[in-house]
Amino acid sequence: MPGTLAPTREPNRMIEVEDLVALVRNYNPRCDAGLIRRAYAFGRRMHEGQARQSGEPYFTHPVAVAALLTEMRLDDASIVTALLHDTVEDTRATREDIAAQFGEEVAELVNGVTKLTHLQLTSSEAKEAENVRKLLIAMSKDLRVILVKLADRLHNMRTIKSLPPAKQAQKARETMEIYAPLAGRMGMQWMREELEDLAFRVLNPEARASIIRRFITLQRDSGDVIPKITNDIRAELEKAGIEADVYGRAKKPYSIWRKMKEKQLEFSRLSDIYGFRVITRTEADCYRILGVIHQRWRAVPGRFKDYISQPKSNGYRSIHTTVSGRDGKRVEVQIRTREMHEVAEAGIAAHWAYRDGERAENPFAVDPAKWIAALTERLDAADDHDAFLEHVKLEMYADQVFCFTPKGDVIQLPRGATPLDFAYAVHTKVGNACVSAKVDGIRVPLWTRLKNGQSVEIITAEGQRPQATWIDIVTTGRAKAAIRRSLREEDRDRFVKLGRELARVAFEAVGRRVSDKALGTAARTLGLPGATELLARIGSADLSARAVVEAIYPELALQPAEEVDARRPVAGLPPAEPFKRASCCQPVPGERIVGITYRGQGVIVHAIDCAALSEFEDAPERWVDLRWHSGRHPPVHTVSLGLTISNAVGALGRICSLIGDHKANISDLQFIDRKPDFYRLIVDVDLRDVEHLHMVMTALEAESDVAEIERIRDLKRKP
Ligand code: MN
Repeated sequence: MPGTLAPTREPNRMIEVEDLVALVRNYNPRCDAGLIRRAYAFGRRMHEGQARQSGEPYFTHPVAVAALLTEMRLDDASIVTALLHDTVEDTRATREDIAAQFGEEVAELVNGVTKLTHLQLTSSEAKEAENVRKLLIAMSKDLRVILVKLADRLHNMRTIKSLPPAKQAQKARETMEIYAPLAGRMGMQWMREELEDLAFRVLNPEARASIIRRFITLQRDSGDVIPKITNDIRAELEKAGIEADVYGRAKKPYSIWRKMKEKQLEFSRLSDIYGFRVITRTEADCYRILGVIHQRWRAVPGRFKDYISQPKSNGYRSIHTTVSGRDGKRVEVQIRTREMHEVAEAGIAAHWAYRDGERAENPFAVDPAKWIAALTERLDAADDHDAFLEHVKLEMYADQVFCFTPKGDVIQLPRGATPLDFAYAVHTKVGNACVSAKVDGIRVPLWTRLKNGQSVEIITAEGQRPQATWIDIVTTGRAKAAIRRSLREEDRDRFVKLGRELARVAFEAVGRRVSDKALGTAARTLGLPGATELLARIGSADLSARAVVEAIYPELALQPAEEVDARRPVAGLPPAEPFKRASCCQPVPGERIVGITYRGQGVIVHAIDCAALSEFEDAPERWVDLRWHSGRHPPVHTVSLGLTISNAVGALGRICSLIGDHKANISDLQFIDRKPDFYRLIVDVDLRDVEHLHMVMTALEAESDVAEIERIRDLKRKP
């Protein structure tokens, strides 16, 4: 029936606000007409003076999109979103304006549509599946975004003739590759078919015209077979006493063309170009009808599908069968109940559909959340025509998240990725210089896990370098490799320096002097390539300085190092002189120290590089030369550590037991700042010496709950 193949054209005049309200009231008498009127006025004002390519006022477009959504009987929020869907993109209106005037729900929906508009949908073949996935992102938040976007595309395709030819071709390809399959996935077969046909018109007008011509020829030769077959089916059902409606139609030119290409058949040899639907009341009737049809006509093997007992993930239910008549011509018959039919037409939109002011309660309508879950599961509908595309992309989608840059570019990451992964995905330089991140405008810690559809802004600072703790925060190989590369360069030097210092302390503790020769010997004994590697390992706590000493002086390993008297750890003091470690620098054994005398009150022990010493530069008589006693010090030297840790369950407990594992005692713990996601605290830890301190700090740094750790040396918070 060629006459019905042309898509219905929207009238060009602008739909008036009361006409739109009436369309909504038809199915939802309790709609918020005031809200719709306000959105209409707002949209019209915002688009004032803008014109479409056809010369019509721009606002004709959003209104037509809204009207399309009334055909799906959608809720007020969707209708209002349609009216406003281009305002943030194309006018001075902001998301905040929309939120203030129409509420957060509508603002979020409009925002979702705007994000989709920003997506760069290139149509190169390799990118195809990826693009569809990008579109899927928004769905995971609210599927109404996709419904509005599809209606937007449908209206743009219906009015595509006013675009320049190159633009038409690009839009048509995009529609064919992305939007039409998406509509199919949403369960909206009519929209899928119309989008395909509109795109087909642009992409291959000759093929489409020839198919329509052949329909005309066919009709002339064998008459219109649709009413004939429809009547035959009706007569059989009547005989069996089953009430049902029967509809027949010719398949769309595009689906016929696709079949011709797939099966390499000429049009004349193509058998099922007609499709019939039988719509009845109950599920039991569906199976009875199937029996009647199979009794009367021969079933074509391999073409029977029971989507009633095994519905598709988009809620589609129906029985499909193909039968052949005496002339060998095949026809496909779909059998379903009225309710099943509604879901088949509306698809996922059925969930939001209203009837008589109530959410239409269709037992077969699929909960969008379940639908998404089903989507992300492995699909086994390999016999579907569109399965080839979906198979690949959905499988990948399950373990991916898609986030946006502030400009709207999509960054694809594995599930569990953090803002740091995002930063490295943008560019290694951005990753290396990252200092903090904002997700949807709010500052978050760098270990936050990103979710689909979030927009991420990375804040960078010059001179910032990757930290060792980042390794545990990132999940992508790209970020890990970049961080390691950077750390290696930087740490190597730092660790070698630190290792040399720790080795010096360890050697002095047993009354020996460290030398390059001694270190070289130790390296050979331990099977390491050289002294530098040895020092780097000591510095990174892979190797204890004590083990190095024992490698050279095995006799020391036999006897434990002499324990230093906890009351007199420092040598060089007059016998009865009281002394105290300075609270500003908190020196520990292994660090070079100096004493300052307070007449008659004892000596304060400072680290040699303590800033407080500058006060005494003019009083050299008060300086006392001191050194730590050699030997093994008991863990009594308190050091304050500043920690920033995640507010994850058990994080504090894990950190405390980690410190305990290293035989260090926590003597005080003080919170200084609490945020919802992380907090800062100062932990006082009692330690043996500088190597012990280093081991504890290295262990804490490696813990993924710890974002930052520093030794606090200038805090004068103690008496
Ligand atoms: Mn639009």
